[in-house]
Amino acid sequence: MSESKALPVAGIELGGTKTVVAWGLSDGTIHEEHRFPTTRPEETFATATAWLRERGTPAGIGVGAFGPVRVNPAAPDFGSLLATPKDGWQGFSITGALAAAFPGVPLTLDTDVNAALWGEVALGAAQGATDAAYITIGTGIGAGILSGGRLVHGAVHPEFGHFKVARAPGDSFAGLCPFHGDCLEGLASGPAIAARWGKAAADLPADHPAWDMEAWYLAHGILALLAIVSPSKVIVGGGVSQSAGLHAKIAACLEKITAGYFGEGDFTDLVVPPALEQEAGIRGALLLASNH
Ligand code: ADP
Ligand code: ZN
Repeated sequence: MSESKALPVAGIELGGTKTVVAWGLSDGTIHEEHRFPTTRPEETFATATAWLRERGTPAGIGVGAFGPVRVNPAAPDFGSLLATPKDGWQGFSITGALAAAFPGVPLTLDTDVNAALWGEVALGAAQGATDAAYITIGTGIGAGILSGGRLVHGAVHPEFGHFKVARAPGDSFAGLCPFHGDCLEGLASGPAIAARWGKAAADLPADHPAWDMEAWYLAHGILALLAIVSPSKVIVGGGVSQSAGLHAKIAACLEKITAGYFGEGDFTDLVVPPALEQEAGIRGALLLASNH
């Protein structure tokens, strides 16, 4: 990407509940954006592409999508949603829908969390990092990972929410994941918190015991990232991360469970909120648009 010559591009952040579409520049500048609920796939993409077409033909399109989604361009089903529990979206081709609306326009597709991480690395809390992660805690849990300056894709893509974590002391909640029960997402997503404590995460006060338990689960998740990819920054975003003091609680728990082994005395500089707040994903999508 040429820093001096930003191109007019389109960004799409496809979320499980809402979609954001933006017209802007390949340096991550947003000129205009439009947010609307994610409904059926055809309808969602018709809304997005009609809105974009009114603004012109972009030089590139960047997409950050919920998953699981095939992000490997060499795969025959590149751009398709895989085993998503979201009704009607299994097998839908994001790249097919966009190629039909904008033939010949280069497209870059990544996960929603990799897009948000890409935004934070270029313009936000992880500037200059070559190794970083972006965790989102909302309806689900996921993470984007940058390793050696590259966004990690793997054979499909990382599924940070779906591994088993050590149980917090005294927690007997069965877990909500329809596939695994008590994986990280099953124990620590927004809906898991609500089911365990009988109250929405947004309505639990900062001094509620729910937040020490939440910090336990996230600290164990981050311990796995530290042990495997060794990020220098871990950005924790998503609706649930807005609970006051949660980042500091996670850092304190991490300090305890790493027991001095990882060379960090204090993890408060490692575990941080997104600097781009709600715009990380869509700005990352614009930045990805020039990344082909
Ligand atoms: P989605 O994952 O669907 O995009 P969000 O990232 O907004 O949605 O996360 C929604 C979750 O965040 C809900 O479980 C909600 O209770 C929780 N939440 C929203 N605001 C707060 C807050 N200030 N403190 C704690 N939890 C919150
Ligand atoms: Zn799971």
